[in-house]
Formats: sequence, C-alpha cells, structure tokens
Amino acid sequence: MVTILDERPHAAGNCHTERDAETGVLVHVYGPHIFHTDDAGVWEYVNSFTTFKPYMNRVKSTAQGQVFSLPVNLHTINQFFGTTLRPDEARALITGKADKSLTDPQNFEEQALSMIGPELYEAFFKGYTQKQWGCEPTDLPASILKRLPLRFNYDDNYFFHKYQGMPESGYTPMVEAILDHPGITLRLNTRFERADAAGFGHVFYSGPLDGWYGCDLGRLGYRTLDFERFIAEGDYQGCAVMNYPGLDVPFTRITEHKHFSPWENHHGSVLYREFSRACEPGDIPYYPIRLAAEQELLTAYVARAQAESGVTFVGRLGTYRYLDMDVTIREAMTAAEMFLTATASNKPMPAFAVNPA
Ligand code: UDP
Repeated sequence: MVTILDERPHAAGNCHTERDAETGVLVHVYGPHIFHTDDAGVWEYVNSFTTFKPYMNRVKSTAQGQVFSLPVNLHTINQFFGTTLRPDEARALITGKADKSLTDPQNFEEQALSMIGPELYEAFFKGYTQKQWGCEPTDLPASILKRLPLRFNYDDNYFFHKYQGMPESGYTPMVEAILDHPGITLRLNTRFERADAAGFGHVFYSGPLDGWYGCDLGRLGYRTLDFERFIAEGDYQGCAVMNYPGLDVPFTRITEHKHFSPWENHHGSVLYREFSRACEPGDIPYYPIRLAAEQELLTAYVARAQAESGVTFVGRLGTYRYLDMDVTIREAMTAAEMFLTATASNKPMPAFAVNPA
C-alpha cells in the first residue's frame, strides 16, 4: 500500500494546472510546463494516463526593441545582424564571432561566448540570466545554457527532443489518473514532517533535501518565482511565451496561458509576468542554484542522507538538480524498480536512485 502526502490542496506539485475562473483558460499555475522527452518509455507511460495533444514550444524574445525568434536559429541570426545568410554562411559568421580560446568553457558566460560570441550573448542571454538567477553568468554552470539549442536552419522548436506534447485536460488530471489505483491513497492538505516517517515502511521524499534536516548545515540556495497575473481580451501577445532579456524590465517573461491549449477557444486571456528572486523560508523553491558554495553544502547533505535508511530522496528538490518532468519521471520509475529489487532480496534501499552530488 502506498500513501501520498501533499501539503497542497491539489495533486501534481508544480505541474498543477487549473481552469481560471474568470476566463475559463487552463492555467499552468506554477509557470509553464511543456512535456518533451527522448525517452520512449516515459512518453508511453504518460500517454497511458491521458491524451496528449501535439504541442511545439515556440518562444519569442523581445530584445533591443524588436521581436526575435528563439532558440537562436537562422531566423534570429538574420534578424539580428540584418542579413540574408544561408546556413553555411551563418555558421561561418557565428564561428567568426565565437571565442575560440575557450576550449573548455567553465561557466555559463564562457559557454555562451564560445558558442555564439558577444553580441547574441548580450542581447538574449546576459540580462535574462542575471534576472533569472540573481548572479553573474560567470558564476553559473555551463550546463544551464546547454539546455538550449543553437541552429543554423529555420527550425524554431525550443526543444530538440523526439516527443513533445501537452496533456489535453492539463497535468493535474494526468497525475490524478496515475494515482487512481486501489493500492494508492492520496492525502491532500497534509504536511509531512520527518518525524512522521516512523509510521511508514519506506519514505520517498520529494521535498527539499536540506529541509529534511531542518537546514541545520545551512540552506541550499534556490530561486523562487512571483507571478503577476493580468487579464486581457482576445490574443494579447500572439504566443505562449515571450521572453524579455533586457534589464530595462524587471520580469523575465510573459506567459499567455491560452496558447498552451491551442485546441481550445476562449475570448478572455490570462497572462503571467514572471519575476525571479532569492527563495526565502516560506517561499516555493523552483530552481536549484548550485553555485560552488551550494555544491559543497550539497555534498555534506548527500553524505548524511546516504547514511540513512528508510528514506529515498527524489525529484528536483529531493536531489537538488534542475530536472525536467521527463527525467523526474524516469528517475522515479528507477527508484521504484530499485525498491522492489531491494525489498525482494532483503537489501536496504539506497537514499538516492541517482547520486546528485
Ligand atoms: N536563457 C536566457 N535567455 C532566454 C532563455 C533562457 O538567458 O531567452 C537562459 C537562462 O539562464 C535560463 C536558461 O537559459 O535560466 C535555461 O532556459 P530555459 O528556457 O530552459 O528555462 P526554464 O523554462 O526552465 O525556466
């Protein structure tokens, strides 16, 4: 028997979707979630619980007084430099701008300069990253930028994964369908404290790793988000996600939720301006920062967790990694399989399915 505890009044965590009372639009309450994966098993799994509609994430960026196509592709390059280059010519242009001395980029900025050169970096990435992460891009890992493709054709699909889509009725019904099983009890509005673990055979903990220990070694840094909701009529911005990389505006992006469900029709529109800031106690942690200091603290918490029995840490918060939905699901499946194998052979279940340190 499995009991799922969630302190919130709904399932699905930060993927939660709900109908906006005023407009009827399906809203991604904790910010945009677009399902994309290369993992056929995970894709098959989620599709067995709900109907996915084809959805391609196409993001625009308002920078330096113009609207550009993202991720950086041939259209962006031609728009930005006022050129009509073909793919090979654009590649040559960008190669000429890229800093070739950075053969082994050590941080976000070096990764950007070695990939696209200073102009595109400053227009699209520098300001956005400063606002999003609250620190200098030189302090951030190169891996954050590696999330985004660079293309020398007109493909403006934000992701390079094989499967991409949106659950037709939202993520919450999908998660509810996953949990709809005679062996599973879902208890909402129920906070879980570490002391409650004694009442369970094994705990899979998806809350913050440092929180399990009352943050007694220090707090792992996170960014939290504030959403400023506003309503419009018809179509406000013409796309789901418009990024604002400039430091002239304090938000990072505006999401227009009706465009996440293009198969629906609504006259009204609901939008979120998204502001990022340091996560204080009581705020919702969204993005693990993982600077050098956090890395050290993480190693200490991980060592401590590994000495425990009866608890396995999962998910973005439990493993303090910038995981996407598909990876989180894959790792949860791996954890479940490991648990079954360990139980069958009377071996202890490890604290992590994947070592996060
Ligand atoms: N990023 C940026 N400019 C953009 C979009 C992204 O500088 O217009 C950088 C920024 O540092 C961001 C990272 O790339 O945190 C990853 O972007 P992604 O769109 O994957 O972020 P998410 O949707 O997970 O917030």
